[in-house]
This record gives sequence, C-alpha cells and structure tokens, in this order.
Amino acid sequence: MIFSPQTLTGQSREHIVQFQEPRFALHPLAAKAFFEMQEEARSAGIELAVFSGFRDFDTQVRIWRLKAAGERPLYNTQGQPIPYASLSPEALIHAILRWSALPGASRHHWGSEIDLIDQRAMPPGYRVELLPHEYAQGGIFGHLNTWIEQNAARFGFFQPYKEDLGGVAPEPWHLSLKELSIPALKALTPGLLQETLQKAELPLSETLLPMVDLLYSRYVINICPPATP
Ligand SMILES: [Zn+2]
Repeated sequence: MIFSPQTLTGQSREHIVQFQEPRFALHPLAAKAFFEMQEEARSAGIELAVFSGFRDFDTQVRIWRLKAAGERPLYNTQGQPIPYASLSPEALIHAILRWSALPGASRHHWGSEIDLIDQRAMPPGYRVELLPHEYAQGGIFGHLNTWIEQNAARFGFFQPYKEDLGGVAPEPWHLSLKELSIPALKALTPGLLQETLQKAELPLSETLLPMVDLLYSRYVINICPPATP
C-alpha cells in the first residue's frame, strides 16, 4: 500500500470507500477485516459497529478550531474538564492533543482506524461518549473490550492507544489495521506534517509550528506497538 502525501494527511479520499447504512468510510482492506471480525463477534453476542472510521483533514481542522477557541471542552487525563482561560498557548496545545489529533496527523486520515462500539449493548437512545468508563469492566462496552483484547489481533488489528504512554490518552475503542497503519506511520514524516500545518494557517500556528518535532515524537509515533509485527 502506497500512501501519497494527500491521502496520508486526509486531504484526499481516493484510498477510501464510503458505506451507507450504517454510514461510515474506510480503506477497503480495513473494511474487509472489519466485516470478517463483525461476523465472528456476532457468535459472541456482540454487534460491532463503526462509530468513527475515516475522518478527513477539514473535519480535524474544525475540531482544532473549536478546541483552540475554547468552544469545546478540554479534559485532563482523568476526563475532568480543564478551565480554558488558565492555559498558556503551549499548555492549550498539549491539552487538545491529549484527546484530539493534529490536523494532518490523525490516524483516522488513513482509513485504517476504527472506533468500535457494540450496538447490542446499547439501550435505545443511548448516546455514545467514547470515554474510558464505558469500556471498563462492568461498563456498557466492557464485554466488547474483553472481546477486542482476545480477538481483534486475529483480524490484523491492534490498539495503538491501549496504554497511557504520556501522549494520546488511552482509547480502548480505537483499533488499527496494522497492514495499513504501519507503512502509513512510516511515511508520515515531521517534514510533511510541518508543511501541511503551515498551509492550513490554524489558530495557535505561531506556537504550534516550532513545536512540530516535539509533538510528532510525543503524540504521533508514541504508540503501543502490535503484539505481533
Ligand atoms: Zn479513534
């Protein structure tokens, strides 16, 4: 699989297939692995669904703008809100990146990543939050979490944010198809990221651009590797 600078940074959809009902978009290889896994999960009483698959650059820019402007809540590691006004520009950038990726550096740009939920576990009208307590033992997706840990690897997936490595906060719901994401991560260089961010003229750019190398080491490559390569 060869990613172009455009597909790597979510600025093209040429590597993506769009599905309707339920609506999500993924790289065809990730979709195939997901459907196989979904089939098998049914026999364990789980109805796997893609809560979030491919996400494009503009969507990630919108999230960045809202959080940089204090129009969306920011959370600390424990999931408690952080007062926006108390943050320096640098601290604000770290607070955003703990829970949201830099535009151009979201693994969801690659079409290889899935945020997974279990539709069967959800009572009617349940609003998914994607928070750690939902995936903890006894949480609404606790059974799903155990199933993922025991089975997802057989379908080529791993959990890059399984543990807290001081970068992105733990995201047990986030699965990655290693066949796609390992080469994608190698191809996404700090230089490409720098160039992409420069063009985007984001809020906080003045503070952000000199930090790109540091942010790349702390939030982009700092992941839990697959158990088997
Ligand atoms: Zn995710």
